[in-house]
Amino acid sequence: MKCLIIGSGPAGYTAAIYAARANMQPVLYEGLQPGGQLTVTTEVENFPGYPDGVEPYQMMDDLRRQAERFGTEVRQGVVTKVDFSVSPKLLWIDDAAEPVEADTVIIATGASAKWLGIKSENDYRGMGVSACATCDGFFYRKKVTAVVGGGDTACEEATYLAGLCSKVYMIVRKPYLRASEIMQQRVMNNPKIEILFEHNTLRLTGEGRVQGADLVYRKDTPEEEIRHIDIDGFFLAIGHRPNSKVFADYVALDEEGYIRTVPGTPKVLKKGAVLSESSCAEGESTVLPGVFAAGDVADPHYRQAIVAAGSGCQAAIEADRFVQSL
Ligand code: NDP
Repeated sequence: MKCLIIGSGPAGYTAAIYAARANMQPVLYEGLQPGGQLTVTTEVENFPGYPDGVEPYQMMDDLRRQAERFGTEVRQGVVTKVDFSVSPKLLWIDDAAEPVEADTVIIATGASAKWLGIKSENDYRGMGVSACATCDGFFYRKKVTAVVGGGDTACEEATYLAGLCSKVYMIVRKPYLRASEIMQQRVMNNPKIEILFEHNTLRLTGEGRVQGADLVYRKDTPEEEIRHIDIDGFFLAIGHRPNSKVFADYVALDEEGYIRTVPGTPKVLKKGAVLSESSCAEGESTVLPGVFAAGDVADPHYRQAIVAAGSGCQAAIEADRFVQSL
């Protein structure tokens, strides 16, 4: 095939729309979370063209239908292994014995929720611990919940939960919120939300499911000053990790795992490539030919749906140029 797109968020679908209209007959693999990260939010209010906001599922369905209208083939499946050292590129779907071949690959695998890394978080996963308030909040109507994090996601999740729960704690490790002003105002003005600044979660407690959390204030709290809160649900909203692991043998990643591209383009840098101002930025030795990255998997800075969509467009245009050059 000429163009294989991995991922079904705004980046993947926008790449598909452009690739299909360029007659590349793209095949798009949806991945583990069809529709991508947006599908776990409540409402999209900041995507241009929707003055009244839009339901995330509606928006992703619209994008998918637009991509299919021009001939994109959307397939279920997860890319579990790749070989980018050959041309065409080889990709294994769902651990199949035989790979599929593609002249160009657009990586639009997005990012996944981060976890704190404490033991009890794992013990109670699905038993009161969740990384998605819009998916699981329903189960906590009239109950008490806590949200960890101080960014836009945490504020959005806390606001959403406050509409369902009797009380919501926000557990924030810094003395301030990192979220945008409008989101900060929403949580601060909500009487059901109590923000616990400079608190960290030590452990979760409960018989069989989450019933409470032990919190430390600042770093060196003595054991006797540990604060206990009674809660029924514990929601993580502490950011995301890029889904780049499967490509790590071939592509350059930054310290957090984001795919590195030639600045301002979707062209992926080869593993080990060093870009200096004097080097030829897009030379054979630095760029992985025919491989492009779009959206959150390559964007540590903005992580917005509209930016992802824009970079999906860029990736498809570059993929088409690459195919023309073959
Ligand atoms: P962010 O990275 O912006 O925020 C993560 C939050 O979690 C920070 O408060 C951070 O604390 C905290 N945190 C990280 N690790 C830990 C830890 N181990 N223990 C405790 N707290 C921790 O992630 P978001 O998901 O909130 O947002 C990502 C991007 O998406 C942002 O650009 C945001 O603006 C955007 N976004 C926009 C929305 C909208 O416009 N409607 C909605 C949701 C997200 P610290 O500050 O100390 O690092």
